[in-house]
Amino acid sequence: MGQGADGAGQGPHSGRDHCGRTGRRALGRIRAGHAAWPGAEQDSGHGAQLPHPGRGQQIRRRPVAPCPPARRPVALGPALPRLEAGLSTAAAKGPARQLLLLGAGHAHVQVLAQMAQAPWTGAQITLIAPYDRQLYSGMVPGFVAGHYALDDCVIPLQPLVQRSGIRWLQRSVSALDAQAQTVQLDDGSVLHYDWLSINTGPVQNRALIEQSLPGAREHALFIRPIEAFGALWPQVVQMGQSRALRIAVVGAGAAGMELAMAMRHCLPGAAITLLCGDVPLGAGYNAGVQAKLRAALLKRKITLLPDSAAGLRSGEILLASGASLACDVPVLTVGAQAPAWLQPSGLALDAQGFVAVDACQRSTSHAQVFAAGDVSSRVDRTLARSGVYAVRAGPALATNLAATLAGQLLLEHQPPQHTLNLISCGDHFAIASWGEHSAQGRWVWWLKDWIDRRFLARYRL
Ligand SMILES: Cc1cc2nc3c(=O)[nH]c(=O)nc-3n(C[C@H](O)[C@H](O)[C@H](O)COP(=O)(O)OP(=O)(O)OC[C@H]3O[C@@H](n4cnc5c(N)ncnc54)[C@H](O)[C@@H]3O)c2cc1C
Repeated sequence: MGQGADGAGQGPHSGRDHCGRTGRRALGRIRAGHAAWPGAEQDSGHGAQLPHPGRGQQIRRRPVAPCPPARRPVALGPALPRLEAGLSTAAAKGPARQLLLLGAGHAHVQVLAQMAQAPWTGAQITLIAPYDRQLYSGMVPGFVAGHYALDDCVIPLQPLVQRSGIRWLQRSVSALDAQAQTVQLDDGSVLHYDWLSINTGPVQNRALIEQSLPGAREHALFIRPIEAFGALWPQVVQMGQSRALRIAVVGAGAAGMELAMAMRHCLPGAAITLLCGDVPLGAGYNAGVQAKLRAALLKRKITLLPDSAAGLRSGEILLASGASLACDVPVLTVGAQAPAWLQPSGLALDAQGFVAVDACQRSTSHAQVFAAGDVSSRVDRTLARSGVYAVRAGPALATNLAATLAGQLLLEHQPPQHTLNLISCGDHFAIASWGEHSAQGRWVWWLKDWIDRRFLARYRL
């Protein structure tokens, strides 16, 4: 995607959006602001964290053994200012060590942005990411609703990579051998690493899902990879313009609810059903948010079906209750799983197969491996898998990667206890959740829009 592709003249706001409406107000493009490095206190629509009265630093310095193989430690002190000296000294002694960054997820774009401000020297740094942009999932419901063009919702990688002076292989990782310190890419090539950082997010494992939901592979529209979903959604919209579609969203998590309401806004004539399973709607949110979510879904004429999908056939979903639901477009939001290539990697994993990391985002089994975002699991605390925590881990990950290269101390990352979650309702209306508090209104949507755009602007160079 070119930089100009998200210009105001091409987005949905200034002309016809992908839902076929015209004459929407031009919101204009937020220009890439620069970016004093946002640090640990940044927020995003992925559950922006408001400053908590009295809360101290979120990153705490803790003595942690430097990663083997041991690099001659440089004098200890503030990690970042001393890095360049440490790295340059190391570089003069031999061939560059290899740092591989797997995936351009929410944490890694912050690592890239930090390198773009002051390139790291002394190690060859390679990013492995299959797409030339990172699609920001927090704005995807807004894209589905027709508020944004897809290009409004992305962080282009090329400018970040260019500015940071690192190497980029536009590939996917298909295997990892933590013992041999190698990764294999989808073209068969094998790369050695001295340090590795993983931020590849969750997957919807088609093979696994097919086992519990026969027919899914052939008939379902999966929301991950989210790039693929973004590319396919306009086709659904096109179909919906010639006939009234029957859409079923399978899975009533936050993403499922947001998507169902966004689809309602985009396709007012469609019959939209949300398959809720046997979990209470909005489980995990406080009672006020749960009530607001239910009311919002019903007000937008979303049918709430307390049943689960058991199989998919052409034109219908077979339900666990034994009934079937006529459906043209089954959208699968369930099943955010760990990538299958982690299983034989030798890395310590949690029970679900995600990389087990400590408070420094470092693998509990391999000190030269770091992981952040949904692909990782903190062993010291339970965190929801969400964009907000992936975003929050970014500054700490960047600091610790840099410190590791320089043989300096690592920092503990203390994620916030409460996060502000903003759930969009399709139209310019949203629901806010903060601990035990809830609120709703058009102002919440505008707040979310402002936060999301501001977040992206930081990384659009
Ligand atoms: C529609 C939708 C809306 C959502 N809204 C919200 C929200 O409002 N708030 C919230 O907190 N959460 C939200 N989420 C959840 C959120 O998307 C995830 O929690 C978040 O994306 C996790 O971030 P991440 O950085 O770990 O991974 P990702 O954002 O998934 O990024 C992973 C990156 O790695 C790349 N990658 C994947 N596999 C490989 C591979 N094998 N090799 C190399 N690169 C690879 C991907 O292309 C991608 O660029 C939403 C999810 C969806 C689907």
